[in-house]
Amino acid sequence: MSDRYAVIGHPIQHSKSPLIHGLFAQACGHSLRYEALEGPLTPADGFERQVLDFRAAGGLGLNITAPFKLRACALADERSERAALAGAANALKFEGGRILAENFDGIGLRRDIEVNLQCPLAGRRVLLLGAGGAARGALLPFLAAGPATLVLANRDEAKAHALVAEVAAVAAGRQGQPGAATLQACGYGELAAQGRFDLVVNATSASLTGQLPPVPASVFSPMGTAYELAYGKGLTPFLALARQAGVRGVADGVGMLVEQAAEAFAWWRGVRPATTAVIDRLTVPLD
Ligand code: NDP
Repeated sequence: MSDRYAVIGHPIQHSKSPLIHGLFAQACGHSLRYEALEGPLTPADGFERQVLDFRAAGGLGLNITAPFKLRACALADERSERAALAGAANALKFEGGRILAENFDGIGLRRDIEVNLQCPLAGRRVLLLGAGGAARGALLPFLAAGPATLVLANRDEAKAHALVAEVAAVAAGRQGQPGAATLQACGYGELAAQGRFDLVVNATSASLTGQLPPVPASVFSPMGTAYELAYGKGLTPFLALARQAGVRGVADGVGMLVEQAAEAFAWWRGVRPATTAVIDRLTVPLD
């Protein structure tokens, strides 16, 4: 019988994860079965039971997507530092009777930006919009890349300040971690005074409803990059604003999706699959 994996979310029917993991397995010559499982209507309504049933049926690992990432993290017996800081897991592994939790969203995002888009973060001015689960997952991997400045802006400013304080404390306790002094929080109202950034990342969920976070066009640098975490939405209002500001390097989150999947595959299977062909297959032109 093939090794079993799945993704749980609600809704789940449009998930690209079965396609991505199927392509990885084919490329690596692994025999596995990867399903999309519709989670309960509300997380409180049996998500944990579904995870435990999947494990009892022989499942080896799960990807977790909205709205279950927080509950998946809480359910685990062990959490990586990334998952613990985010308070959210996007991958689980069942090992020796224990449930291990990981969060590969941030590392997948960093890899897509640095490796695929060839936009190194070291020494750069980086602006991250949003302080939700995706932004939480991105902060430690971004800091570890050694940016000159990393500014976190959020609509709820107090949330941005609390998150920056939390991450700075973790970074300060890590040997060799580039300085947490580069990390700052602010509200959107303060961004006009911040000047231009080499990289602006939209980690808000505004694009899912066709909205634009209140970011001034002055943050964009024509030679820089604008990155939208949402994918499959075409030229979102955020990316359109970046284009109007003259930014040539604009990208959506499809590469991040594939890179986080590759990290999960490597964690489960011990081999990191190549991602370029899979990203090319899933990429939809922005306009
Ligand atoms: P959360 O719900 O955890 O956080 C949402 C964030 O967006 C909050 O910071 C919220 O601000 C902010 N926000 C929402 N609407 C607006 C608005 N109109 N203007 C300004 N800020 C707004 O979401 P996630 O962090 O889980 O997801 C964020 C995005 O990342 C989504 O688009 C999601 O699809 C995408 N994503 C992509 C992945 C990929 O693989 N490409 C993986 C994971 C996520 P406030 O705190 O003030 O309410």
